[in-house]
Amino acid sequence: MPELPEVEVVRQSLDKNIKQKKVKKVIIRNRNLRIKIPVNFANSLKNLKIIKVDRFSKYLILVLSNKSYCLLHLGMSGTIHLINFNKENFSTNTSFYNSPTLPKKHNHVEVIFKNIKMVYNDPRRFGFFQIIDNSSLLKKRFAHLGPEPFDSKFEVDYVASFFKGKQRNIKNILLDQNFVSGIGNIYASEILFLCKINPTKKVCLLKKKDILKIIFNSKKVLLNAIKKGGSSIRDFKNTSGKKGDFQRDFKVYEREGLNCKKHKCRGSIKRKIINNRSTFFCNSCQK
Ligand SMILES: [Zn+2]
Repeated sequence: MPELPEVEVVRQSLDKNIKQKKVKKVIIRNRNLRIKIPVNFANSLKNLKIIKVDRFSKYLILVLSNKSYCLLHLGMSGTIHLINFNKENFSTNTSFYNSPTLPKKHNHVEVIFKNIKMVYNDPRRFGFFQIIDNSSLLKKRFAHLGPEPFDSKFEVDYVASFFKGKQRNIKNILLDQNFVSGIGNIYASEILFLCKINPTKKVCLLKKKDILKIIFNSKKVLLNAIKKGGSSIRDFKNTSGKKGDFQRDFKVYEREGLNCKKHKCRGSIKRKIINNRSTFFCNSCQK
């Protein structure tokens, strides 16, 4: 499932390729995504320019020239392919998930510009498009979501007051989008490993120094993944579909039974289901 860093890599690629371009035509092959694409969708994009491509949490935001917005969420399996009409398209995927070139099936939406088109592919159809009419509605749309880890609002007093008196475990809280936006299952395990905090620890028991570590490592892990994603996407394009190194960098995620990577730690990585999600942690250095 694409998480914030993957969505950011897609955003960068879209911003580079479709910014300031005018939508010529929209083709919808299947309206039945997580939110059904409305009948007037094509008309709400046609002849508008993409001012820029923004992102909040895992939502891509196409900022349109009439001051409305087109939200795009990739769901569980969505990818965006860019097909350039004047070049050989030897790799079209804007992310490093799934096929590097456009699959034959599940291409539900096409947005066509002068020299390039953007194709939305989604086998499981949990993703969606949504038109938001103005900036105050956009603000409302995201009102239920907490700050991103990079946001200045994600600081010690905010985190401490959220944790106060709560019996919930830290792993579960890191995934709570009301608390912080954009930390998904993979990165929650990675962040807690760097903090040396056991994922089952109740948040009311965490000290100020733990909170500082959580804030620091949340930023660090996500920024690092964005950086890696960016470099792996370049590799990906250069070597015609060879996967980037990104996945090999995980310290705990999907490393069950392997040795802990922390210097001098003799523990091994365990997997545990916490609130229905696989969680990976070291049985020795995470207390
Ligand atoms: Zn360890």
